[in-house]
Amino acid sequence: MLPLPAFEWVSPGSLDELVRALGESPGESLLLAGGTDLLPNMKHGLFAPRRVIGLRRVRELRGIAETPAGGLVIGGGAPLDRVATDPRVMARYPALARAAGLVASPQIRRMGTIGGNLCLETRCVYYNQTAFWRGALGGCLKKDGPTCFVVPQGRRCVAAMSADTPAPLIAYGASVELVSVRGTRTLPVAKLFAGDGVKNNVRAADEVLTKVELPPPAERLFSAYEKVRSRAAIDFPLLSIAAAAVLDAGGHVVELTVVVGALGALPRVVRGLEITRAAPLSREAIDLVAEAAHTQCNPLSSLGAEDWRKDIVAPVVRRALAGLAPSRIAG
Ligand SMILES: Cc1cc2nc3c(=O)[nH]c(=O)nc-3n(C[C@H](O)[C@H](O)[C@H](O)COP(=O)(O)OP(=O)(O)OC[C@H]3O[C@@H](n4cnc5c(N)ncnc54)[C@H](O)[C@@H]3O)c2cc1C
Repeated sequence: MLPLPAFEWVSPGSLDELVRALGESPGESLLLAGGTDLLPNMKHGLFAPRRVIGLRRVRELRGIAETPAGGLVIGGGAPLDRVATDPRVMARYPALARAAGLVASPQIRRMGTIGGNLCLETRCVYYNQTAFWRGALGGCLKKDGPTCFVVPQGRRCVAAMSADTPAPLIAYGASVELVSVRGTRTLPVAKLFAGDGVKNNVRAADEVLTKVELPPPAERLFSAYEKVRSRAAIDFPLLSIAAAAVLDAGGHVVELTVVVGALGALPRVVRGLEITRAAPLSREAIDLVAEAAHTQCNPLSSLGAEDWRKDIVAPVVRRALAGLAPSRIAG
C-alpha cells in the first residue's frame, strides 16, 4: 500500500474562492478534480504539493449547457460519464461521447472529469512507476534525472499525452477557458498543448480550466473516434484517432480533420488533407489519408510497442473514416 504524502486540504465552495485560493500559492498548490490521476501520481512520489485544492464543491464547473448558436459548453468539472451519456453530446458530438465513454472504467468515469482529462499528466513507462522503481534506474528527464531513457540523446521529454478526449475536441474545433486572479483567456484545445512531455500544456500554475466550448456542428458533420489499448477494459490508449468530416449533399468532402493521440506529448493533426476536398470520401481517398497519417506519425517507446503502433496507424485511420457517424443537431 502506497501512502499519500501530507498536504493541506482546501475545498472552496465557489469559483471565486477557488481562483483566489489558487492565486495565493500557485507554485505550491495542485488542483484535484476527480483525483483519479493526481492521487496515484502523488502516491508514486511524482508530486508532493504543499496544498491540494478540491474542485468538487464548485458547482459552476459541473454543468453542461447549450450556447445560443447551438453549440455546447461543458464545465471543466463535468464528470466523464455525464459527458459520455449527455443526449446533446451524443447527438451533436458522437466522437467526444465515445471517447469519454471509453476512458478507464465506470467508477473512474464517474469521478474523473473532462478538465482533469485535458490537464492529464503525460505518461511514460519510465515515469509512471513508484519512487523505489525510478530510484533503481536513476531518475529520468521528466523527474529526478538528466537522462531520457526513451531517447537517450534527447533534450526533450517524450512522455505521451494519453488522454482520450483531446483528439475529438480538437477535431470539433473546441476551445477552453482558463481563469486566474489575473483574468480570463480562451484558446483552442489544439493550442492548450505543448511539445514537451515535462509540461505538455500551457496552463499557468494559477489557472483553472473552467469550461470547454464546442462550436455548433456544421450541417452534415460526420465524426468518429477509435481507440487502441492493450486490454479491452480500463486502459489508456496506445493510439487514438479522431476524425471529423463535413460532406456536402453529394457526399463530397468540404472539410476533413484527423487527429492522432497518444503518440507524443501533444495530439497530432494530420497535415495535407486538403487533397481530399471536393472529392467523394472513397476508398482511394481514405487510403491517401491513412498513408499521410502513417508517414507523419512516429510513436516512441515511451508507451512501448512503437513499431506495432506505427504499423496500425493506417488501418485504424481507415477504420475511423469508414465508421463516420452523423451529427444530428436535435437532441
Ligand atoms: C486505472 C486507470 C485507468 C485510466 N484509463 C484512462 C483512459 O483510458 N483514458 C484516459 O484519458 N484517462 C485514463 N485514466 C486517467 C484519468 O482517470 C482520466 O484521465 C480522468 O479524466 C482524469 O480526471 P480527474 O478529474 O480524475 O483528474 P485529476 O486526477 O483530479 O487531475 C488530473 C490533473 O489535471 C489537473 N486538473 C484537474 N482539473 C483541472 C481543472 N479544471 N483545471 C486545471 N487543472 C485541472 C490536476 O491538477 C492534475 O494535474 C485512467 C486512470 C486510472 C487510474
